[in-house]
Amino acid sequence: MADISGPIRIGIVGVGKIVRDQHLPAIAGNPDFKLVATASRHGTVEGVPSYTTIEAMLATEELDAVSLCMPPHVRYQAARAALEADKHVFLEKPPGATVSEVEDLKRLADAEGVTLFASWHSRYAPAVQAARAFLFENPPSSVAIVWKEDVRRWHPNQDWIWRAGGFGVFDPGINAMSIATHIIPVPFFVGEAVLDFPANRDAPIAAQINFTGAGDFKLTADFDWRQTGPQSWDIIAETPAGRLVLSSGGAKLAIDGRAVQDEPEREYPALYERFAGIVKAGQSDVDIAPLQHVADAFMLGRRRVVEPFFD
Ligand code: NAP
Repeated sequence: MADISGPIRIGIVGVGKIVRDQHLPAIAGNPDFKLVATASRHGTVEGVPSYTTIEAMLATEELDAVSLCMPPHVRYQAARAALEADKHVFLEKPPGATVSEVEDLKRLADAEGVTLFASWHSRYAPAVQAARAFLFENPPSSVAIVWKEDVRRWHPNQDWIWRAGGFGVFDPGINAMSIATHIIPVPFFVGEAVLDFPANRDAPIAAQINFTGAGDFKLTADFDWRQTGPQSWDIIAETPAGRLVLSSGGAKLAIDGRAVQDEPEREYPALYERFAGIVKAGQSDVDIAPLQHVADAFMLGRRRVVEPFFD
């Protein structure tokens, strides 16, 4: 890969909700990047050339990097094409549909000498680093994750998310797992799980998971997509130094009821800062731990059929 002088010329693949909500403003606000083109079957971005396939974009445009923002089940082939064309690759979460394909991309990026970034946006929520520092100093005896949101509000009419490989409630649940695997200093593993599948869908609408860990450590995760009213994105840890509550998806931190941090989120600006940093340093950042836990839950989980879901 040639050295980059000037901004990183980037192309976006899969122009949809998250691209419009987050990627475009984050790229526009970061002088280390210049958006050069998009590749999407239908979506376009005003002012830049648009292609309907990544292959056409790679063949025509001078790019240093691509951000792959389409659903996970179609990300592997695009990532492979970009890495083989010597481009640095930013993978939206989850980084792939399976652990094996992400491992393969990791190997390929190393072989090509380019950067692969498995982005986990929730890790960049403002209070996550402070929570990590506290828990590494005060290892918890137990942790409870409560991640409950209204799928109709956050994923309206997203058909892919309900198909096999679309992750269902694990699409947000993996955000919780990305924080948990970052801030909890002890190893933990799925022990048992119950996954609730609507009778008319191939992906779960809710999941309850009990993890076991080293010694007596316990972790429970309660994911539910049927939550109306206030939404819950909380991680509660019992420690010898008090109860830690990381709430609002990692934006707020309290210890024993005392607010330690409460800041506006800037996850995507921070993600692009990180991506620019690892591109310049010639490194990759691919942690598959959150994806592995989700795969384990699908592997060990008992399946329960619940009432059909209609958007
Ligand atoms: P989306 O709007 O449904 O999908 C993004 C775009 O990908 C679509 O507009 C579509 O554009 C393209 N696409 C859809 N299905 C495809 C297929 N089968 N083959 C090729 N391209 C396809 O979804 P999103 O909410 O942006 O989510 C995309 C990714 O970002 C997911 O991995 C999700 O977990 C992650 N993410 C989403 C959010 C969120 O709040 N929505 C937050 C953080 C991360 P074309 O039709 O133009 O090809």
